[in-house]
Amino acid sequence: MRHLIIGAGIVGLAIARELQRTRPGSEVVVLDKEPRVAAHQTGHNSGVVHAGVYYPPGSLKATLCRRGVGLLRDYTAQKNLPYDEVGKVVVAVDAPDQDRLVEVHRRAVANGVPGARLIGPSELRELEPHVVGVAALHSPTTAIVDFVAVTQALADDVTTGGGQVLLAHEVVGVRRTHDRVEALVDTPDEQIRIGADRLIIAGGLYVDRLARMVGGSPDPQIVPFRGEYHLLAPNRAHLVRGLVYPVPDPRYPFLGVHLTRRIDGTVDVGPNAVFATAREGYTHWDVNARDLGEAIAWPGMRSLARQHWRTGIAEMAGSLSPRRFADAARRYVPELSDDDLRPGSAGVRAQAVGRDGSLVDDFVIEQIGPVTAIRNAPSPAATSSLAIAEHVVAHLPA
Ligand SMILES: Cc1cc2nc3c(=O)[nH]c(=O)nc-3n(C[C@H](O)[C@H](O)[C@H](O)COP(=O)(O)OP(=O)(O)OC[C@H]3O[C@@H](n4cnc5c(N)ncnc54)[C@H](O)[C@@H]3O)c2cc1C
Repeated sequence: MRHLIIGAGIVGLAIARELQRTRPGSEVVVLDKEPRVAAHQTGHNSGVVHAGVYYPPGSLKATLCRRGVGLLRDYTAQKNLPYDEVGKVVVAVDAPDQDRLVEVHRRAVANGVPGARLIGPSELRELEPHVVGVAALHSPTTAIVDFVAVTQALADDVTTGGGQVLLAHEVVGVRRTHDRVEALVDTPDEQIRIGADRLIIAGGLYVDRLARMVGGSPDPQIVPFRGEYHLLAPNRAHLVRGLVYPVPDPRYPFLGVHLTRRIDGTVDVGPNAVFATAREGYTHWDVNARDLGEAIAWPGMRSLARQHWRTGIAEMAGSLSPRRFADAARRYVPELSDDDLRPGSAGVRAQAVGRDGSLVDDFVIEQIGPVTAIRNAPSPAATSSLAIAEHVVAHLPA
């Protein structure tokens, strides 16, 4: 049986490897439009192995994140890739934050996050001497990795196992009968057709468009939210030892501007969450007429804008002004000055938005005949990727 996978991000390649591991004899072909693996979300994220602190107990996010952490830790050990349990604190700076932190702690315990506990200001100072708060949640096993290196290792496994990873191959159409698919693919030289028995769409920012080609639901639609980072000046990187987060606003699936130590020793401040005018729009200047038109025409986007216009404007203002950006981090790292920030990178999140304007929170997988589409795989999908792969492959139609 031939399996075709669209997307050489961490999710698509984890699924390809899992197919080879569990279904020997099946042929696996992975396609990506870019000339390298991990070119989009997987290569533009915070590099954090989330421990499962925030997610509603029983959700796919909660179960696959917890399972994914163990699988990822073992995989990095097996491949000799860095995996550093630097630990994380979620910091409450006032009473309302503290109330919400209680719920975060309840979820962390229910999800079985190892060692997660509430701590007071003095213990917070011991762990993070430059961070202040009235209380915090400490998660000692939250870790950092290099997700691009992990994804490259997965791609190597797939090719070593006899599969193909075809880069610079863009799927521009898909035809489906009741039990087969045929993809129309633009390569640098020509247009080709690739037939398969099963298709798995792990197309990240374009997953909804690809799913619609095979009769997938128009709801939810992907709306791109750019996350911009600043970098702490090297002589200020000592301001944090590990990962320092604010208490998240429960109305949004984003975690708020945080300080993230990376595997190379640099410290990121961010990301914010700004509506992006192109699905692969990494700067303010990137505009894609089709992406923008589709987002504006989506009823869910208009409803979202009506509900959250104040936050949207504040995020835009923060995006344009480093000072407003620094203000967000200064709430819990008061020594941080505007001059400590350097321009950093950006990533774009594929956020599924329902027709009613809801921000879809959990992972969503849609089955359309012989096609499986990963319709919502936001954070912590990189952490959870090996467990998402197990889940998807276990549920594939025979
Ligand atoms: C700013 C930011 C910070 C994040 N931080 C974290 C974190 O710290 N920890 C964590 O666990 N998660 C984090 N995430 C989430 C995580 O990065 C994603 O959930 C994960 O990378 C999704 O992987 P993917 O393979 O589904 O998507 P992607 O990595 O986006 O891969 C999709 C691939 O599909 C390809 N593709 C699309 N259309 C086509 C087509 N027509 N033909 C061929 N190929 C196509 C694209 O080129 C792309 O390579 C973060 C995300 C962002 C944006």
